[in-house]
Amino acid sequence: MTAATPVVELAGVSRRYGNVVALDAVSLTVARGELLAVVGPSGCGKTTLLQVVAGLTAPDAGSVRIVDRVVVDGDVWVPPERRRVGVVFQDHALFPHLTVADNVAFGVPRGRGRAARRDEALDLVRLRHLVDRYPHELSGGEQQRVALARALAPAPEVVLLDEPFSSLDANLRTDLRQQTAAVLRAAGTTAIFVTHDQTEALSIGGRVAVLRAGRVEQCAEPETVFHAPTTRFAATFLGEADMVRGTARAGIADTPVGRLPVDDRLSGAVDVMVRPHEVAMVAAADGDARVERVEFRGATVLHVLALDAGLHLRCEIAHERQLPVGTRVRVTVDAGHPFAAFPTDPPVGVVIADATVSAT
Ligand code: ADP
Repeated sequence: MTAATPVVELAGVSRRYGNVVALDAVSLTVARGELLAVVGPSGCGKTTLLQVVAGLTAPDAGSVRIVDRVVVDGDVWVPPERRRVGVVFQDHALFPHLTVADNVAFGVPRGRGRAARRDEALDLVRLRHLVDRYPHELSGGEQQRVALARALAPAPEVVLLDEPFSSLDANLRTDLRQQTAAVLRAAGTTAIFVTHDQTEALSIGGRVAVLRAGRVEQCAEPETVFHAPTTRFAATFLGEADMVRGTARAGIADTPVGRLPVDDRLSGAVDVMVRPHEVAMVAAADGDARVERVEFRGATVLHVLALDAGLHLRCEIAHERQLPVGTRVRVTVDAGHPFAAFPTDPPVGVVIADATVSAT
């Protein structure tokens, strides 16, 4: 085993529930110390993926390796308690009748060093002062930190986190996700984190795997999946995106909003992905668009622009630059990097014409 050997490796993992394909030939690796965020809509297979790694569900096909041990593959089956995996669930799942100290020590083998491991884990989440409390005497955020300490105390090879912040309010979520990422980094722990929340995945994942209907659509650094999505689904799931029809040639797409740089391997009809923060506008009586709708978002304002060319674009700008509905504007689009673009689907009419020909 070399330093580059992944701590977790899934190869061709599939799992069905009746007719539902929860996981469809999923292959993923997680490097030592890496935090992999798995993001996708409800029902795309995120929880099933964690359960397969933890040993709470057996896959129908494929294998999982944790460090140098295959934990599931055909007849091979290592039970969950011997996989060296820590799990943090959505609802924290603390033992209500145990104190914080006993909850955290729960998975650590009895013997010398147990108390030290417990205290070390509590220090990581900065909760040593609450050791004697019971779960019902803690806030939601504190319970989540205890659950993280409990998962870390036995020094697992990998920690799996299943939507750990979804029961918390927005401000607490933001704080806790940064704290959790910092704790995992400080402990040097390898982790897989699943969430349906794009911002959460992008802000704490070292890499982000986009899961859709049991398949990994893209797995890359946050900046790459956001700015250079490889599928339309990844493009629209990870943030607001409008598609602008154009014609690509030699790295440039000609569109109604100008000549936009795109991947030079594209040619012909394409849809270019434009995100609202890449759209700028200035009020101009002889402009090419009109403000159709305005949505106040706090620090920013979203303007829905109706272009004379017959398409809509969203433009998100600082709130102090808000323009009233009806204002004529001139629109410019600039990303500072090539735009993601996707070959345009063949028009439906072509298929119908073919069907008609073959039917006669
Ligand atoms: P996610 O965590 O992304 O919401 P899940 O992994 O929980 O998705 O579920 C994936 C799919 O498998 C869903 O369609 C879900 O209804 C189905 N599923 C999950 N667990 C079971 C189960 N125990 N029995 C039947 N269907 C299940």
